[in-house]
Amino acid sequence: MKGVVVLGSTGNIGVQTLDVIARNPERFVVSGLSCGANIDLLLEQCRLFRPEVVCVAKGVAGESLEALRRLVPTVLSGPEGLLDLARLDASILVVAITGVAALEPLYESMRPGLVVALANKESIVAAGAHVMARARERGATVVPVDSEHSAVFQCIRAASPAEVSRIILTASGGPFAGRTRPELARVTVEEALCHPNWRMGPKIAVDSATLMNKGLEVIEASHLFGVAYGSIVVTLHRESIVHSMVEFADGAVLAQMGLPDMRLPIQYALTYPERIPGPVRRYDPWRERSLSFAMPDTGSFPLLRLAYEAGEAGGALPAVMSAANEVAVREFLAGRIGFLDIAEIVESVLAGAPVLGSSCIREILEADAYGRAAAFAQAARIAREGVQ
Ligand code: MG
Repeated sequence: MKGVVVLGSTGNIGVQTLDVIARNPERFVVSGLSCGANIDLLLEQCRLFRPEVVCVAKGVAGESLEALRRLVPTVLSGPEGLLDLARLDASILVVAITGVAALEPLYESMRPGLVVALANKESIVAAGAHVMARARERGATVVPVDSEHSAVFQCIRAASPAEVSRIILTASGGPFAGRTRPELARVTVEEALCHPNWRMGPKIAVDSATLMNKGLEVIEASHLFGVAYGSIVVTLHRESIVHSMVEFADGAVLAQMGLPDMRLPIQYALTYPERIPGPVRRYDPWRERSLSFAMPDTGSFPLLRLAYEAGEAGGALPAVMSAANEVAVREFLAGRIGFLDIAEIVESVLAGAPVLGSSCIREILEADAYGRAAAFAQAARIAREGVQ
């Protein structure tokens, strides 16, 4: 029996993680859960899974808190509570919170034998070198949940690290692939949230629509697999059947394929290095008529290019970029700026960023705060001038 703690259990990945756990009650027991503000769903999850500890990130009304206290022995709250929950003695920690809020709990959780099922990319983008070094020092294993990185993680086991020549990340292109900039200027929040192939939360849905998600994934891949940016390429693959590929020194390319369903990479991270029967619909080799691949359009979607540049520059720039993007996405979702403004804000924050320290988590969080403030100022200026 493996104890599992899920940070962000009420989000899209958290809910699907609990679905996988519920299907394998002989293998997993839920030790702890956390939520942002969706306390009603957390209560429901607690009735089903009976965790020992929960954490509520944001302030909640007295009545809901009382109901939670009657059900769960230990109820924590706020960022300190989240740190305590991440340090709870369990076999697997699922990090399914969105944004850089996951960074400190992730970093502080590392201990011998722990498997970190990592679904949060912002923390790796901002502080990948620190997080991976900490995992190595402390003897924890980071298993990616992001579908592309899970695919690479599965393929890369076929050879030694020195024999890897390229990582080929696939990108669905999101809801707006093929659109021109004048068309993109008019898209709505609702359209941006409608991903063609995957169920996902609002932040990652918008990131998929701008291709920032793929940019963050390039940086994430570089840290997770220790591969240089020049050896990571992105190919547009509308069908989302090939989840990513690894090319080896001899030219062989291995791909991990399957119908798009996040429960597969989630389950793999929970059962790694084993594979067990799972609920996902099977790939039918007689029905999928064609798989297409194409070059992404970084003219219309400049954030992919900017992410490569920030990743190559390194230091605090990826943290600044990711923070600026988080703010810009939030402002777009709130209807205060247009779709194209997201890239404009991130680009101008990166261009104006001073050299900032990145030698420890505290400095990374300072860079994050800088990126947030700068992006917020830009967004406020754009909102004043009127949404396009
Ligand atoms: Mg992904």
